[in-house]
Amino acid sequence: MGPEATPDQTDHVVARLEEAGVDARVSRGREATVIGAIGDRELLATLPVEGYPGVEQVVPIVKPYRLVARELAADPTVIEVDGRRVGDSYFGLIAGPCSVETREQTLETARVVAAAGATMLRGGAFKPRTSPYTFQGLGIEALELLKEAKAETGLPIVTELMDPRHVEEVVDAADVIQIGARNSQNFLLLSEVGRAEKPVLLKRGLSTSVEELLMAAEYVAKEGNDRIILCERGMKTFETSTRFTLDLGAVAVLKKETHLPVIVDPSHAAGRRDLVLPLARAAAAVGADGIIVETHPQPEQALSDAAQQIPTSEFPAFAAEVAAVVALMGKEIG
Ligand code: PEP
Ligand code: MN
Repeated sequence: MGPEATPDQTDHVVARLEEAGVDARVSRGREATVIGAIGDRELLATLPVEGYPGVEQVVPIVKPYRLVARELAADPTVIEVDGRRVGDSYFGLIAGPCSVETREQTLETARVVAAAGATMLRGGAFKPRTSPYTFQGLGIEALELLKEAKAETGLPIVTELMDPRHVEEVVDAADVIQIGARNSQNFLLLSEVGRAEKPVLLKRGLSTSVEELLMAAEYVAKEGNDRIILCERGMKTFETSTRFTLDLGAVAVLKKETHLPVIVDPSHAAGRRDLVLPLARAAAAVGADGIIVETHPQPEQALSDAAQQIPTSEFPAFAAEVAAVVALMGKEIG
């Protein structure tokens, strides 16, 4: 709708679209109002939408994703969780251990990251491990420890859901439900969290294209949950000097293709702690809306991802270095 369009004119367009059996979603932005029309392309083409009063232009979405497409929202989406924000001018700083291991380890990490300005606490309860013989996570017990950490620090919790059988417990404990890289195209799980009342942090799969990631997000949005944070966490390539190859180009592309916030996981991409800070800074500089970082009081004793976790003693300095780049980008830690 043009800048001068009245609310009545917007309602009129919505009513005409709905009459024709087209789903109409209104997004009111700072400068314009966008009406997303989702329906049969040929049917839409028969409607004289361009002639309706107040309509400025009709933009066809030619990509296979629709609900998450940039064109469908007037402004970038901001995900708000307990007053913490991710997206647009707000940079999310999500930090915590790879796995929840003990009460002490979880609470100590939560205290340190909260004091250093982190906006959310991460911690795995159910872990997707390459080997079935390694630590698989504390499960339900870990969810209780995360709740305790939240009660003490006020930090919202990000934790992974791997199995639809745990949806109730995980959705109850989590403020943001993480879908891990290995489940990036688990369409049943995606539809399941699409029906949940909590935001979703959707990681890109190890060999998933940008378009496939956006289609995965579309599965979540299609069920009604449009509070989605996308996460680039490195992909499989021929390179062996890092654990995965961090695809910062994909972050730049995603920022053009979708209105959803896009964050970066420098920890799993690096696989080694000395590279986490440079990758985190690069993420902020390329325009990411946040990072999710692993930190542990005694990384060398960690039960998972020992090599890549930053010692909590170094986390405050790490956070300050990242915050400097965030400020350079004209954003604030949300
Ligand atoms: C994690 O965040 O601990 C994790 C397992 O990440 P990913 O799914 O990206 O490997
Ligand atoms: Mn990990």
